[in-house]
Amino acid sequence: MSLIEMKTPLVEMDGDEMTRILWQMIKEELIEPFVDLKTEYYDLGIKHRDDTNDQVTVDSANATLKYGVAVKCATITPNAQRVEEYSLKEMWKSPNGTIRAILDGTVFRAPILVKGITPNVKTWEKPLTLARHAYGDVYKNAELLIPGAGKAELVFTDADGRETRKTIMDFKGPGVLQGMYNLDSSIESFAKCCFTYALDTKQDLWFGTKDTISKIYDRRFKDIFDSLYDSTYKEAFEKAGLTYFYTLIDDAVARVMKSKGGFIWACKNYDGDVMSDMVSSAFGSLAMMTSVLVSPKGVYEYEAAHGTVQRHYYKYLKGEETSTNPVATIFAWSGAFRKRGEMDQLPALMHYADVLEQATISVIESGVMTGDLALIADREDVKKVNSKELLQTIRAEMEKELSL
Ligand code: NAP
Ligand code: MG
Repeated sequence: MSLIEMKTPLVEMDGDEMTRILWQMIKEELIEPFVDLKTEYYDLGIKHRDDTNDQVTVDSANATLKYGVAVKCATITPNAQRVEEYSLKEMWKSPNGTIRAILDGTVFRAPILVKGITPNVKTWEKPLTLARHAYGDVYKNAELLIPGAGKAELVFTDADGRETRKTIMDFKGPGVLQGMYNLDSSIESFAKCCFTYALDTKQDLWFGTKDTISKIYDRRFKDIFDSLYDSTYKEAFEKAGLTYFYTLIDDAVARVMKSKGGFIWACKNYDGDVMSDMVSSAFGSLAMMTSVLVSPKGVYEYEAAHGTVQRHYYKYLKGEETSTNPVATIFAWSGAFRKRGEMDQLPALMHYADVLEQATISVIESGVMTGDLALIADREDVKKVNSKELLQTIRAEMEKELSL
């Protein structure tokens, strides 16, 4: 069999530590034997980000705007300890933050379900995709510690100097105060990404806020979603047999826990922060969570939800055997190939993406898995393997399917 062809290169964003090791192994074992791989390579490893004063991160995001699809390895977000460890010139910003600022997207996270690893919530039969509005609210707040009695007001001064005032609280004693904001443009682009991704993946969309209590702030989110749905997406949703469902956030939480899964749950920033941790731990493992950044500009960046798995990397450096789970990183690649295939109309590439995912799932379902999954698997007779052995087993499975 000849190699599967690609037309447009994928933007390849290499990363750090254990995931950088896995990245190379995945390419060697599962991609290059099957695909005539075309990528435009950007090394987002911490050393090269430092060498280029982080320009490489900006360049990789711009390349994503140019080509449309990127696949990203996990990267170190430097803190003081990392600055010392790698003798960095600066505490560079989070690459994901930089990329997101350029692509202006929404992150959709979904678990990879396999039989034999049962979600803690027994009704969840299908993956639940969580979309978090990663802008504003409490993450961009202004806070004050109130030392004692006094009046707190909201004041808005418009461009012509006119003031609008509202009393927040007449403090009789000490307390705390917080102000926050959001932008119509950001809420709109969040809504747009959610509707588009729902249509893309043929899933219903749920959205919840606390608009009964927050009658202006949260209500604005609901109104923007509603009006965009009515003006732009309603017809397509109806044609696809999909539903857009708005409810109070508390009702959404209650319903999610009793649902079968299989839909997209759009959340405001804080709700999404909290609920994505709940959803991923209820599904079993962070190593089985995929993540895709969908931009309203129509471009996509695929990655694993977990980090660089630093603890395993240090063991690896000491020559110890590691059993790091490569599945979410494999699914980042398969997601990117499928999207590339869709955009370039390459059915063989889309088929390859399906085979890659199916082979991965069926190997785990046959009882061969990494240590993290062995711990939470239902069956007793699991074969715990290292990352390399897992990839080799998946490759053998793919060879059957792709009849090499
Ligand atoms: P992490 O890499 O997600 O790992 C935390 C722990 O989760 C690991 O120690 C491991 O537990 C388990 N784990 C995560 N992924 C796994 C996998 N694929 N296979 C097996 N176990 C897995 O988070 P971290 O150690 O807190 O962060 C390390 C670095 O990653 C940091 O520098 C951070 O900045 C970066 N980070 C990057 C991204 C990104 O690029 N998107 C996201 C988050 C964090 P055990 O040790 O118990 O086995
Ligand atoms: Mg969180």
